[in-house]
Amino acid sequence: MSEKMEFQTEVRELLNLMIHSLYSNKEIFLRELVSNAADALDKLRFLSIADPSLLPGDAELRIDISANDETKILTVEDNGIGMNKDDLIQNLGTIARSGTKNFLQSITGDAKRDVNLIGQFGVGFYSAFMVASKVEVHSKKAGEEQGFQWTSEGTGEFSIDELPKEKNGTKITIYLKDEDDCKNFSQDWQIRSIVRKYSEFVTHPIYIRSLDKDKKETIERLNEKPALWRQSAKSIEEKQYKEFYELVSHEGGEPLAWSHTHVEGAQEFWSLLYIPSKAPFGMRYASEQSRGLKLYVKRVFIMDDCKELLPNWLRFARGVIDTEDLPLNVSREILQSNKIVVNLKKHATKKILDTLQGVANDRKEDYAKFWVEMGAVLKEGFYMNWEFLDELKNLLRFKSTKTSEKEFTGLEEYIARMPESQKEIYYIVGESLSAVQGSPHLEACKSKGYEVLFLTDTVDEFMMQSLHEFKDKKFHDVALGDLEFEKTKEEEEAEKESKKNYEKLCESLQKILGEDVSEVRVSSRLKDSPCMLVRAAGAMGAHMEKLMSLQGMEMPKTKRILEINPEHEICKNLLAKSEAGEDLGSYPAVLYGQALLAEGSVLPDPAAFVSAMNRVLLSK
Ligand code: ADP
Repeated sequence: MSEKMEFQTEVRELLNLMIHSLYSNKEIFLRELVSNAADALDKLRFLSIADPSLLPGDAELRIDISANDETKILTVEDNGIGMNKDDLIQNLGTIARSGTKNFLQSITGDAKRDVNLIGQFGVGFYSAFMVASKVEVHSKKAGEEQGFQWTSEGTGEFSIDELPKEKNGTKITIYLKDEDDCKNFSQDWQIRSIVRKYSEFVTHPIYIRSLDKDKKETIERLNEKPALWRQSAKSIEEKQYKEFYELVSHEGGEPLAWSHTHVEGAQEFWSLLYIPSKAPFGMRYASEQSRGLKLYVKRVFIMDDCKELLPNWLRFARGVIDTEDLPLNVSREILQSNKIVVNLKKHATKKILDTLQGVANDRKEDYAKFWVEMGAVLKEGFYMNWEFLDELKNLLRFKSTKTSEKEFTGLEEYIARMPESQKEIYYIVGESLSAVQGSPHLEACKSKGYEVLFLTDTVDEFMMQSLHEFKDKKFHDVALGDLEFEKTKEEEEAEKESKKNYEKLCESLQKILGEDVSEVRVSSRLKDSPCMLVRAAGAMGAHMEKLMSLQGMEMPKTKRILEINPEHEICKNLLAKSEAGEDLGSYPAVLYGQALLAEGSVLPDPAAFVSAMNRVLLSK
């Protein structure tokens, strides 16, 4: 006898929305049904541990899907726990899930917004009504005798009938609507591609039954691949890890390294994270583009490129995180503010940094290759987070005055090489290696045997704003005017002497160059070059100034200090001229111009510089 019942009000509202609102991603109904079936199989397996009679020894726990393109009927069947009459009424007539309740509470009545919301929430079993004009759920609970069938057209009511069923479990029959975007789900290839997309790694076998050309029934398993990340790391061979990398990265090539973890405790999740050996296409420039982790919930695929799982500065990483603790219908909105997700992101970040550190320690050459490809992205981490600065500092690599062409140095090695008299870590910022290598700013350090790090990436100057010290050693830009080394008594005497001798010349130069420099003074650190420009501490670097102006931000020009080398022949010549009361002519302009050129800066007025230089060349 058929018993008719009314849906709970909330279910009615939900179904109404589901049926009448256009929903762009209808295919997810199959993901929901397969995942319910997999849950039912898990439940039965669990209960059968205590009561083996529930599970006949030879029965394979499985999911069977069939699609009939003639009748437009789709079935999804499992031999899991099943439902009795009360279960059917309770589970498929009311709404118990908090996610769905939240969803209903956020409904506004504004159709456009609400459609959007459905997309974000996803709504389990009821999503079948997006494509079905009628749904039958025929079920028998394991351990019970009587089977029941639940039937509904998704309107106000459903009916329950007693209907014998031999096997345990549930068979869901979907009568597809006659609309194009619904009836197509009776096509074999559609079902295959949807199952492969979402349910590839579901543990239980999923079979598809279809009719071949001769109308003979064939059965094929759709999900052969094991969820590698859920297996114990001990049982997995290197080859399998590499094959899986191809699957998740779509890039091919070999991974540089990977990290595979299973975390249990307050939360349970699995992560399998890869660092590629080559920078993924477009990584360097498109900073907001894809970030490579896939999110799975209970082995079911939820989304690609889940940016909530990885900071932007690790966007080269690839892999999978599979959690037990999020709902299947988790939305972007939930991801953004969810504590579980924050924890997963922290885990992923830490694991990737640890893995990189392992490579840096044990495989120096490989790490150098990684650094060339992806180091600049990693450096963004310095101004985008505060949490992992120590880990990041240990991963930094630099070219320096002491590295060979293919080599890099880390900060640890730098410190180990420091002569005892050296107190700080020195660096120089510039546009290219060739520009910094020839810079007069290096001369003093070189003569002391102090190593200087070369910073030539666009992000470097930003990075240095958060990188103040390493192991209690401060960083010092050699282009700053406050660079001072310990001096001997004789050196101090000599300096005093030349300061006195050059006092008048410095004054005259400053008068002539007053538009461009804030001060002209005798240098205590130049060895080979006649002069250089230094910055007052706190002033913006030349490189940074250039970056700002490239972005259209005109900054008031900060004047720098021109230091001249009292031991250089050119300066001595000038001193003689000035003492003899001669006009300094174009010399000051040439000095200033060459100081700009030597540090890799652009001349503000190249034509004026050339004519000044020509006048100097012609003068006797
Ligand atoms: P959820 O699966 O998120 O709980 P659903 O609306 O998809 O929400 O399903 C509601 C309930 O119906 C499930 O929690 C489960 O108890 C029951 N159910 C659904 N499908 C099956 C099935 N194939 N076998 C057994 N129980 C099921």
